Amino acid sequence: MSRLAAVIADIHAAMRDGRERGQVARYIPELAKVDPAHFGIAVVDAAGVEHVAGDADMRFSIQSVSKVFALVEALARHDERVWQRVGREPSGSAFNSIIQLEIENGRPRNPFINAGAIAVTDLIAVAAYGGIAAILRRVRDLAGDASITVDGDVAASEAATGFRNAALANYMKSFGIIDGPIDATLDVYFRQCAIAMSCRQLARAGRFLMHAGRCPTSGHPIISPERARRINALMLTCGHYDASGEFAFRVGLPAKSGVGGGILAIAPGRASIAVWSPGLSPQGNSLLGTQALETLAQAMGWSVFNPDP
Ligand code: GLU
Repeated sequence: MSRLAAVIADIHAAMRDGRERGQVARYIPELAKVDPAHFGIAVVDAAGVEHVAGDADMRFSIQSVSKVFALVEALARHDERVWQRVGREPSGSAFNSIIQLEIENGRPRNPFINAGAIAVTDLIAVAAYGGIAAILRRVRDLAGDASITVDGDVAASEAATGFRNAALANYMKSFGIIDGPIDATLDVYFRQCAIAMSCRQLARAGRFLMHAGRCPTSGHPIISPERARRINALMLTCGHYDASGEFAFRVGLPAKSGVGGGILAIAPGRASIAVWSPGLSPQGNSLLGTQALETLAQAMGWSVFNPDP
């Protein structure tokens, strides 16, 4: 057994037996039904070898991890104009906070808080840019898996209860940050959050970010190395909402979490990693998923702050 395989087996055993598992997201009724006992992990290494443990092939709601893929799509369509409507600073606020929008004239701090993600999705929500079909196509292409789809029950559940997101969208619209009809933009946003993927599929979809934007199989650029570096930088600084600093301190890898309990983490040049455990910290990040990544990063020496071995 390789060292990586042994580390993953140890992590799985520890997480399976973990007692403190956090709380599943209750504000989206469909997510409240998910059993917190689940834990899955998938790691694709630089050579393309996949290591998995636990519920690695069980699909879950990727929620805010989708914000990475929507950003890739928006940048492909609109290039640097994306940054006219959304910033690149950590917010230090909760994922669904509205407070900074008033102070900062409706321009969200970054593309990974809800307001910023809605503003980014608005850029591709119109039919001309493909809406949810474009985001889904992007995710399927990156994962190399045409079976990935949207969970309609989760999307409907979120649409029925997404009053806070509707407030954010309306508020931004009043500042001219949102172009499209609010309902149409939110519909795409709720559907992208409701994309269902397994850890294995998610780790595959993240491979281009470990390979400086290149397709792991053909070597062709999917995005430029500079864009891959910048997306990784945003994941490191903004990927965990008001716990982003803590995550960088503990794990030291670019990563994006979602309230479904999934986290996609990138060890540049080394691995694309997906973990899933539905119980969340108070900030809305997977409790055991974060612990698993901390252990993995320490055991393998995978931190962007470590010198090359
Ligand atoms: N769909 C969730 C929301 O908008 C995403 C939040 C998250 O995953 O952090 O509330």
